[in-house]
Amino acid sequence: MQVLKFGGTSVGNSDAILKVIEIVKARVNATPTIVVVSAMSGVTDQLLLLAQTASQGNDGYTTLIQHLEQKHIDVVNALLSADQQGDVLHQVKYWINALRSDCAQLMASSTLSLRMQDQLLSYGEILNSTIIAAAFKAAGVDQTWLDSRLLIKTNSNYFNAVVDHEATNKAIQQYFASNQHALYIAPGFIASNPEGHTTTLGRGGSDYTGALYAVALKAEALEIWTDVSGMMTADPRIVPNAKLIPKISYQEAMELSHFGAKIIYPPTIQPVMRAHIPVWIKNTFEPTHPGTLIENQTPKAENLIRGISSIKDICLLSLEGAGMVGIPGFTKRLFDALAKKQISIILITQSSSEHSISVGVRVQDTHLAKIAVDAEFETEINTQVIEPLIIEKDLSIVAIIGEQMRNQPGVSGKMFEVMGRAGINIRAIVQGSSEKNITAVIETRDVHKAINVLHEAFFETAYKQVNLYIAGVGNVGGKLIAQIQKQASFLKSNLNVQINVVGIANSKQQLIQPKGIYLSHSDDSFNHAIHHSSQWMDQLAAASSGSIHVGSIQDYVSTILDNNLPNSIFIDVTADAKVADTYSQLL
Ligand code: ASP
Ligand code: MG
Repeated sequence: MQVLKFGGTSVGNSDAILKVIEIVKARVNATPTIVVVSAMSGVTDQLLLLAQTASQGNDGYTTLIQHLEQKHIDVVNALLSADQQGDVLHQVKYWINALRSDCAQLMASSTLSLRMQDQLLSYGEILNSTIIAAAFKAAGVDQTWLDSRLLIKTNSNYFNAVVDHEATNKAIQQYFASNQHALYIAPGFIASNPEGHTTTLGRGGSDYTGALYAVALKAEALEIWTDVSGMMTADPRIVPNAKLIPKISYQEAMELSHFGAKIIYPPTIQPVMRAHIPVWIKNTFEPTHPGTLIENQTPKAENLIRGISSIKDICLLSLEGAGMVGIPGFTKRLFDALAKKQISIILITQSSSEHSISVGVRVQDTHLAKIAVDAEFETEINTQVIEPLIIEKDLSIVAIIGEQMRNQPGVSGKMFEVMGRAGINIRAIVQGSSEKNITAVIETRDVHKAINVLHEAFFETAYKQVNLYIAGVGNVGGKLIAQIQKQASFLKSNLNVQINVVGIANSKQQLIQPKGIYLSHSDDSFNHAIHHSSQWMDQLAAASSGSIHVGSIQDYVSTILDNNLPNSIFIDVTADAKVADTYSQLL
């Protein structure tokens, strides 16, 4: 048995679905296969909006349903010839009608229960899996549609239902004991409670559905097919040099996916880890790429850490006061006050002086947290034993993750040294005693820089990047740029330094490109650069365009500070006192 789960973008339109069919076709027959599919990308969000719109008595919901219906019918039209469409169009209409009548009911009652919401959300996965099943049939691949609601059993905690593993395993095993087909198509995300009402497994929960089938049937592997080629050492939108992680342990994958990199739904991992089922992350749009393998034992890698991750926009809430020292119970009361308001705590620090305790929460929870905590400690605040809750905003978390850090001195030293050298102030530090994760709270404006310098220090031993801002392009400045241009490849191969000129300014204009300005390579550039026009000169001379700014040295300096690039160097090749006046700011 093998389980292949395809996420929203992998089944988001007819082209993608055709790719899925190709991938699966090549794999059936080897062993029985379950294909678990999400709703088309965006559909779950649209259904949520639909539920809200209808329950607010807004009849605009009917247009939303029309769009949704059309979206699915378009895919049917693209995938199936007219004579193949009959059955599936009938089914699509049936489910859309059910959706319509649920919404009419919502409109009338103007209340939206989570139970009703789950029922509405389920149509996304049901519609898509039905269409995909028909597409397989049309492609000549025999398949059986499997109603996951009948096999995956949960409690009644709608929208985030808790799985009853025993009942689920039993139901799945019983079903498969009497069915022996080569290929099953099953909707992800949806399940049912003991009363038979539809429940859902939490946003992104189709991965979890895949894991539940895999575990119940002791599958050889669970494959999560998505739109990227696997887990990366850092977010590639932040770190252009981020690398794919070929192998990662379950624990590390869980840590990385809790933080930002939403490649796999974290609850998925627990059951497959317990059952030792390997998980592959694969790319539907690049199926030959090996992807990432998540398993128990990962070989020792040369890097000390496996990845870097971040959560943006958190707040640090601190309770401080002499009245806390040595008195038990403060922490409990703080946590209880937050828990009662369903506020999730991202991290906790307490200094051993016990004079203060800080917790990190999401920005949107801050207001409620402040009210709840100040109310809880009202007496102590009034008698000035402790301070009202202190809130620090515009903070984020960066974390380095990896099992190899355990019992390995110097990793945190390196982490903080690197950030310190980059001028990044650290507001709080957390390391779990499992030593799989070291987390630092920093200002949000430093996140980009922090992740880049950390990535460079832990993963890019090959070479170091230096970002140059040049002020002045006269005789000396022009020659300097020509030298840099000429020396760049030598510096890279002999000194492992990659020089990026990211800013060039004269007294009126500034060319700023944080990814590096292209310095044209002409052979005679060294001697003639200042006479012959180079590409950067043309760009700088060009009238205002995207990366050209007109302004004073002060504008240039402000942009440099805003860009906050790692390893920045400012070079003054002017003889202008105004430029020298900005040094203190730059430093
Ligand atoms: N369709 C659901 C969601 O968007 C489940 C999933 O995609 O995994 O959350
Ligand atoms: Mg999804």
